[in-house]
Amino acid sequence: MGGKLKEYYSKRDFKRSPEPKGGEHRKDGAFKYVVQEHHATHLHYDLRLEMEGTLRSWAVPKGVPTEMNVRRLAVQTEDHPVEYANFEGVIPEGEYGAGTVKVWDRGVYSPVKMSENKLIVDVEGTKIRGRYCLIRFKPKENLKNWLLFKVKRE
Ligand code: MN
Repeated sequence: MGGKLKEYYSKRDFKRSPEPKGGEHRKDGAFKYVVQEHHATHLHYDLRLEMEGTLRSWAVPKGVPTEMNVRRLAVQTEDHPVEYANFEGVIPEGEYGAGTVKVWDRGVYSPVKMSENKLIVDVEGTKIRGRYCLIRFKPKENLKNWLLFKVKRE
């Protein structure tokens, strides 16, 4: 296994970590959306959106905002396998991302506008519902930093 998940595999020892190894291919048209609460060194929330066969992932230290006009930093991390959307468990001490992972919210999303530096998506989760924008923050300086905020549906 390689390709888009190369970085994901390079960070993990699957003999020690219970995290999914990947390989699932989806046939239906719904795109998965999940937010995982990750009690690592610092508590953060991992937002993941299914895109092109993997989960595009961002660590959101303060969590996904539920109100308009709240902008949150979202730091892009490595793509994860689609099965990760169902993962809950404990990553052992000493392993990458050690700590407890719990699903905080899940559902599906529809893409509204997808470009290199800006994503607009309609999210249908349980806790999170509505239109969200992810925009690269100073892309010339750092491609990993995004801003995440809720926007009005036109
Ligand atoms: Mn994490």
